[in-house]
Amino acid sequence: MSILVLAEHHDGQLAGATAHVVAAAKAIGGDIDVLVAGENVGAVAEAAAKLDGVSKVRVADHAVYAHQLAEPMGALLVELAGDYRHVLAAASTTGKNVLPRVAALKDVSQLSEIVEVVDADTFKRPIYAGNAIATVQSADSLKVITVRSTGFDAVGEGNSAAIESVDTVVENRQSAFVKQELAQSDRPELAAAKVVISGGRGMGSGENFKLLDGIADKLGAAIGASRAAVDAGFVPNDMQVGQTGKIVAPELYIAVGISGAIQHLAGMKDSKVIVAINKDEEAPIFQVADYGLVGDLFEILPELESKL
Ligand SMILES: Cc1cc2nc3c(=O)[nH]c(=O)nc-3n(C[C@H](O)[C@H](O)[C@H](O)COP(=O)(O)OP(=O)(O)OC[C@H]3O[C@@H](n4cnc5c(N)ncnc54)[C@H](O)[C@@H]3O)c2cc1C
Repeated sequence: MSILVLAEHHDGQLAGATAHVVAAAKAIGGDIDVLVAGENVGAVAEAAAKLDGVSKVRVADHAVYAHQLAEPMGALLVELAGDYRHVLAAASTTGKNVLPRVAALKDVSQLSEIVEVVDADTFKRPIYAGNAIATVQSADSLKVITVRSTGFDAVGEGNSAAIESVDTVVENRQSAFVKQELAQSDRPELAAAKVVISGGRGMGSGENFKLLDGIADKLGAAIGASRAAVDAGFVPNDMQVGQTGKIVAPELYIAVGISGAIQHLAGMKDSKVIVAINKDEEAPIFQVADYGLVGDLFEILPELESKL
């Protein structure tokens, strides 16, 4: 039984999510191959070969895969899928773009956002915004699976798996890359950061989000937000944490002026240590917080920054 993991990579670097997906593959059991598809991805393949548990890295290095568009990536995976019982990718923008196409073309059901492997056919995944965990079993001969990275601890590095090239080059007449607009930030990426500090409606304005900057600088944190803060126009929507935003599970999550609605908790409740700052001691966020500070954030934040 063998498993194909689609590597996640950006700007010529292997993304951290791949090590979590390989961990899920290890839990399933069997030989694990990693597919690196892109253009000029030699360094990515070398990084993937270091991941513990990987048997082989297969590299499809061609201009048609340059921007990892869903159409050629899906067609490539369909070509390769015959060798495998499981195809896995991170439940990221790329994985969620590519894998449903593979499942549809192979006429199998996709298993989405698994957080636990029970056995090779049976998986656990959150439903109802994380309020219940469904155990799902698939009888399909090929399992197409997206993995929620926060559900699996990343595998280590120290391996030196074989790297081989894949000669299959698919055509893409259906889509073309036009342009990419990326938010520029010196801070760590929200979904991968070890520390996240998020502001909610209680911040009052976008200008007040600057109060989080100094603390984020001192802790090397990414800055997130609740949907209410995004909807109010305080900050852009790529900062949103929650059911309809990013799922994070950092070592430390600091929620400032956030009430703790279930849709927000769905995105951060697996954080290792949760700190909440809120003036309302009845706020539901305190039910999931390890440490709570009841008080006015406009007094607490400057004090916290100076103490740090
Ligand atoms: C389908 C659906 C999907 C959703 N997806 C998401 C999602 O992905 N992410 C998300 O966050 N929400 C999501 N929501 C919205 C969610 O239900 C809440 O409305 C939202 O999380 C509330 O954001 P908030 O906590 O910032 O605001 P509020 O609920 O208004 O809370 C503000 C908090 O700030 C505190 N506060 C105010 N002033 C101060 C002060 N000076 N000092 C200290 N504390 C103060 C208040 O006591 C209050 O607890 C979704 C909703 C739906 C229906």
